[in-house]
Amino acid sequence: MDTQLDWSAYDSYGAGDAYAALPSAGGAYGKAAAVCIGNRQCQRTEKGVMCPSFRATQDAKHSTQHRAATLKAALNGEYGPQPFIGPELEAAMDLCVGCKGCKRECPNGVDMALLRIEALAQRWNAGAGVPLRERMLANLPRLAPWLQYLDWFLRLRERLPILARWGERWWGIAARRSLPRGAARSFLSYAPRAAVGAAEGRELVLLVDTFSNHFEPANAQAALDVLLAAGYRVHIARPVEGKRPLCCGRTFLSHGLVANARTEAMHVVEALTPYVERGLPVIGLEPSCLLMLRDEYYALGLGPQVEKIAKAALLLEEFLAKEHEAKRLDLALRPLPHSHVLVHGHCHQKAFGAMKAMRKVLGLVPELKVEFIESSCCGMAGAFGLEAEHYEMSMRMGELALLPQVRQSSPQTLLIANGVSCRHQIRDGAQRESLHLAQILQAALAGDDPKPA
Ligand code: SF4
Ligand code: SF4
Repeated sequence: MDTQLDWSAYDSYGAGDAYAALPSAGGAYGKAAAVCIGNRQCQRTEKGVMCPSFRATQDAKHSTQHRAATLKAALNGEYGPQPFIGPELEAAMDLCVGCKGCKRECPNGVDMALLRIEALAQRWNAGAGVPLRERMLANLPRLAPWLQYLDWFLRLRERLPILARWGERWWGIAARRSLPRGAARSFLSYAPRAAVGAAEGRELVLLVDTFSNHFEPANAQAALDVLLAAGYRVHIARPVEGKRPLCCGRTFLSHGLVANARTEAMHVVEALTPYVERGLPVIGLEPSCLLMLRDEYYALGLGPQVEKIAKAALLLEEFLAKEHEAKRLDLALRPLPHSHVLVHGHCHQKAFGAMKAMRKVLGLVPELKVEFIESSCCGMAGAFGLEAEHYEMSMRMGELALLPQVRQSSPQTLLIANGVSCRHQIRDGAQRESLHLAQILQAALAGDDPKPA
């Protein structure tokens, strides 16, 4: 079996007793599935993230263990010669939101988010054909610049339910969902091209993701303002060739379009290489985008340069927390008029242990009372919650903890959610606006109220 992702990290698995039941096909991909030893800790609900689909359904068929078992059965030939286009694997993977909760919380570190991507890629490869909706959602980075011209239609859709129902019928986009609206001007269209900030300041690179660039440029501006106020010299990452802004490749990868994701990732690697060779940190805002550089870029087989890029890539909060610990952070923050914040962590922030950095950085704002929501996945999970057949499940996941706690909070409480899809879910499910951490810090520079992007 030719895999589309590089599974060589699992080559040595299977040597010990714990991995004795290796599938007969799939090579290292099969070994990655066999990492699951079936002790069903993913079918618990006490705390943590794993596994949101099991938590919402209480059905073992929607747990990590069942997915791994089904994948092993598929690779053992139990579902016939074309298991990737058969119903068994499709049903098992259907509600996996790719949260990476299992990668962090499963005692054996089963990476079902990545296993699912390979299964999807194999499905498309086996002739199932990529549906139009999946193509459209995967191609968001290419479509995003044009969305501002469709703003009139998106406004009309909000007022005329018949249009939303038409979109559900023909495109499979949930009628009950609001749709993201493109900003009138993307951040990179007006962001400085040359490095900005104090000439003698520590240099760094700001990697602006598709969502911050096209949908919420105020977040990128806030991050830039904070970094400049702290005295850094900021380079804003641009592609080496061509005009299309850099994109990590996340939307392509999560829809199983591995070759497209690899192309996008190669542009990022090419653009960042000169900076990381000089030892500059690379700062990003959107957890699912930035953390891809530390995780899936290895599986995309992008060459030895990935190691250096992975080491340099940091979320804004991780970078600021590290700088604070090293006593290099000089950020004059003032109390906010509203001094209570409620924080929802993005699944990938939690999977990479970045919530500690959030706590540390928020602790730098004087008099701020910080409360964390004990929640699993928000339920939106990229495009999952937009898909008509997943809308109900998406809301059920949100209702497990996040949305009730948001509703119970006072309207004066500031809500923080660093993930763009988490903010979308909070808006749709609790009719409240939430903010990226960068906006809280920007507001604290002035001691003023933050404004939603
Ligand atoms: S996925 Fe992890 S927690 Fe779940 S059964 Fe397998 S080894 Fe256990
Ligand atoms: S990635 Fe998330 S939803 Fe998928 S199996 Fe792992 S914990 Fe469950």
